[in-house]
Amino acid sequence: MKQIFDCVIIGAGISGMTAAIYLKRANKNVILIEKEIPGGLINKTSAVENYPGFTKIDGPSLVMNVYSQIQNLDIPIVFSEVIDIQNENNKTIYLKNGEIILSKTIIISTGRTPKKLNIPNEDRLIGHGISYCALCDGSFFKNKDVCIIGGGNSALEESLYLSNICNKVKVLNRSEKLRADDYLIEKVKAKNNIEILMNSTITKINGQNYLESIEVNDQKILCDGLFIYIGLVPNINFLKNIDIKTENKYILVDEKMKTNIQGIYACGDAIKKDVYQIITAASEGAIAATSVEKELI
Ligand code: NDP
Repeated sequence: MKQIFDCVIIGAGISGMTAAIYLKRANKNVILIEKEIPGGLINKTSAVENYPGFTKIDGPSLVMNVYSQIQNLDIPIVFSEVIDIQNENNKTIYLKNGEIILSKTIIISTGRTPKKLNIPNEDRLIGHGISYCALCDGSFFKNKDVCIIGGGNSALEESLYLSNICNKVKVLNRSEKLRADDYLIEKVKAKNNIEILMNSTITKINGQNYLESIEVNDQKILCDGLFIYIGLVPNINFLKNIDIKTENKYILVDEKMKTNIQGIYACGDAIKKDVYQIITAASEGAIAATSVEKELI
């Protein structure tokens, strides 16, 4: 007979891995499914300075610390993408690799993906001057001039990282107000090679085989690199055949991390909430796991 897990956790970011740690320590039969590498977007974060216990740590190192806990607890992890879920007697989870997994409960912790500008040449020049990850690609732009699109915490945090590598960093914010926290804005203003341009909308990306320039408010800006940090969208496409309540693609949960469907929970960046932080993702993972545990009694 096919094995039925107590809980399948979809997505091994901070919230999913935290939920797995809590469930395994409660002696539940838990499995993690991850489509890329454990850690999710934190892998692309250059500096974390607001997670208790660490004055400053880079994203990949924080992920490795958590992943080593997963390994020490012998929590199984399958590397494949969930393509569908059916809500039958047990939950049935269909993977891209052809595997089918049965479980009594599910925790969805699939996070979010960076948004694209959706303007011509963006896709074609990814990896040829255009990037969504300063930590991954910043070193290609040593002593060069780069632009960043966006005015949120991500854009400003990564502008600080790039300012230590690049010659000049221009942050282009489309409105007259930055969304980032004040402490970051102050740090950025103190850097003499970062310039913030307000009311600046990118209209064109130019370059044949490699990025050459962008057009902002119809004026050309020459740049070697373009980093896009304009927000994120929840990864929920695999929920197409299941009637989970969402708002603007964010999964709605109650304070116990329960969705509207019995036995299905969600946590981390894919849920609708006020604070998208590593600490809240971890906390929601713990809450979701505890709720699952109570349901399984
Ligand atoms: P945000 O949604 O906070 O900011 C997106 C930015 O991109 C805004 O300035 C927005 O402008 C701009 N933007 C959106 N669409 C476009 C477009 N088509 N063209 C140009 N500009 C555009 O996203 P972040 O990724 O920065 O942050 C996501 C969440 O993660 C936030 O809650 C943030 O606080 C959190 N975070 C926290 C960190 C920390 O605490 N250290 C670090 C990183 C992220 P507009 O304002 O005009 O809409």
